[in-house]
Amino acid sequence: MHQFFLNEPLNDDALNAPLVLSRKEYQHLFVLRLRDGEQFVFADGCGREHVFEVVASDKNTITAKCIETRASENELACQLVLLQGLPKREKLEFIIQKAVELGAHDILPVMMARSNVRIDEKKSERKAERLHEISKSAASQSKRGIIPEVHGVQSFASALDAVSDADIKLIAYEDETNRGTLSALLPTLPQAKKIAILVGPEGGISDEEWQQAKAHGFQSVSLGKRILRTETAGLCLLSYLMLHLENA
Ligand code: SAM
Repeated sequence: MHQFFLNEPLNDDALNAPLVLSRKEYQHLFVLRLRDGEQFVFADGCGREHVFEVVASDKNTITAKCIETRASENELACQLVLLQGLPKREKLEFIIQKAVELGAHDILPVMMARSNVRIDEKKSERKAERLHEISKSAASQSKRGIIPEVHGVQSFASALDAVSDADIKLIAYEDETNRGTLSALLPTLPQAKKIAILVGPEGGISDEEWQQAKAHGFQSVSLGKRILRTETAGLCLLSYLMLHLENA
């Protein structure tokens, strides 16, 4: 069943009356040419889903009635927060899309010492809107109950502070030789409510950043003997955590 996000949550009165949707507001719904009786899901972005059934439609409006409201079952019990060392422009969009599919709750791009990009302040608002749309589209496609937030670019220090309340903090460190950290963590995953993971940009993590992260309680983890691209590393660690959390 197709799933979309509402532009804003619906209150109970709105849910108890037929909902009239305009083509202007919900263009993507009209593309499906839904017929009377067909159903679709509206997620409210706050963890609730509403199953709607089409009762009438014409070229500019679709009228549907809500036949069921339920809690979204597609969110992890633990919030996964990705601190992504700012990569080259097009990579960030790819990373956001895949991190959303893998269950990330927040994505914080982080300007790091070896990030090889510069921020164009004039374009940052439009860029933020585009990254939100990428997150929203990936969340809709993967039937998420929320739209993961893509935060504005953080400094390294503010990123570390932003996740100071995480139960587990991991820094994916390409020079880490201890390969047992992740497996040693597994017994603690079911109790974790928030896990932060930090991944360096293409140029890697500087020694100072590694020391600073460790001083903030980050554990250094190896993702194996090979050097992964920045866009692979975060997704590798997210996948590992998501699969263990889902089957916890
Ligand atoms: N400095 C690296 C090198 O030696 O070529 C390049 C950095 S790598 C392309 C980008 C980031 O991915 C790293 O900073 C790290 O966060 C993560 N990463 C890549 N391979 C990793 C590995 N085997 N173990 C842990 N983290 C890794």
